[in-house]
Amino acid sequence: MPEALRAAIRDVVDFPKPGIIFKDITPILADAKLFHQSISLLCETAGGRVIDKVVGIDARGFIFAAAVADRLGAGFVPIRKKGKLPWKTLQTAYSLEYGESIVELHEDAIQPGESILLVDDLLATGGTAGAALKLLDELGANVVGVSVLIELAFLDGRAKLEPHPVHTILSY
Ligand code: AMP
Repeated sequence: MPEALRAAIRDVVDFPKPGIIFKDITPILADAKLFHQSISLLCETAGGRVIDKVVGIDARGFIFAAAVADRLGAGFVPIRKKGKLPWKTLQTAYSLEYGESIVELHEDAIQPGESILLVDDLLATGGTAGAALKLLDELGANVVGVSVLIELAFLDGRAKLEPHPVHTILSY
């Protein structure tokens, strides 16, 4: 069950800044069974709906989102930090748990009305996922839900993502 995933997550104190407890998911990635299970549980959050594209957030989100996309028979679309995408982009600025950033999405990556599942490794303040949703909304995506492996529930990031459904596998 997800408790095996929880047990594998390594808390790294004061990374990348003092006061942050970083949830290191690399032990899950390195374990074939746990990685497979994490992707299965994220896929279940789609609730059997047809997903056209899974959108992943730079950078750890890519790992989960790409695997989920393949398992669901969907395409994969990256949302990246500023300056990384080569084609014409939409962009938006946001603040996150430990800094500020700008994210971008290719303007032709999604067609209006396509069913989208947004996937990331971790939901903290909700700034990153909120910025991603803003870009997806601008392109007219039909966002079926936001699925993350880990939610830091005490930060109430999901409040920023309303009214989109948020599914999390492990809550802290
Ligand atoms: P936020 O925008 O505050 O919801 O932060 C979420 C993004 O920052 C995710 O893409 C995470 O990868 C990363 N992140 C924020 N806080 C942590 C944390 N405590 N441990 C690991 N990653 C984090």
